Amino acid sequence: MLLLGFWGVSLNAHSSFFVFNLSNPLANIFFQLYFMSSMDRKICPDCLSNYKRSTLGKRNRKLGVSWGSGQWVEWVYHTEKTRKCLKHHTQGLVDGAKRRAVKINASPAWSNKSKIKQVYLERLEKTTQELIAYEVDHIVPLRGKNVCGLHNEFNLQIISATENRKKSNKF
Ligand SMILES: [Zn+2]
Repeated sequence: MLLLGFWGVSLNAHSSFFVFNLSNPLANIFFQLYFMSSMDRKICPDCLSNYKRSTLGKRNRKLGVSWGSGQWVEWVYHTEKTRKCLKHHTQGLVDGAKRRAVKINASPAWSNKSKIKQVYLERLEKTTQELIAYEVDHIVPLRGKNVCGLHNEFNLQIISATENRKKSNKF
C-alpha cells in the first residue's frame, strides 16, 4: 500500500501523493484517489515509535520494508482532531491529569491508578458511541475556592463538555 522507500520521510500520507507515477494509468488513478481519501488521516507518533522499537519493526527496517506496508490499516485510527490515536490520546489525558494533580499535592498515594484509567476509558467509549464530547471531571474541584478535592477514583465523574463549562463558570 504505502510505498515510501525509507524511514521518516513523512508521517502524512498525502505528501507522497505526488510521488506516484505508475505505468498503468488506471492504477495511477486508483492510488491517487486512495491518497486523496486519506489526506486527513495521520499516524499516531506513539504507535509509530512503538512499531519502530518492536522486533517486527526492526526486522522490517533491516529488510528495507517500508514502515507503512504491513501496519497501515491499524495505524489509520481516526479522523478526529487528536494528534495521537484514541488509545494514546486517552493515555495522554490520564498522564496529564496525574501530573497536574501531583503538582498541587492533590494526588494521594492510595488512589487507584487502574480505576482512574478505567474512568478515562469509559469516557472514550461514551464519546465514540454517542458522538458527544464527554470529559472527565473532578466532582470537588482540585483548585476550588473553599475546598480542594483529590485526584482519585471517587472524585471523578464523566460529564459532557457543555456541562463541564457551565460548572467551571460557577466555581
Ligand atoms: Zn497510538
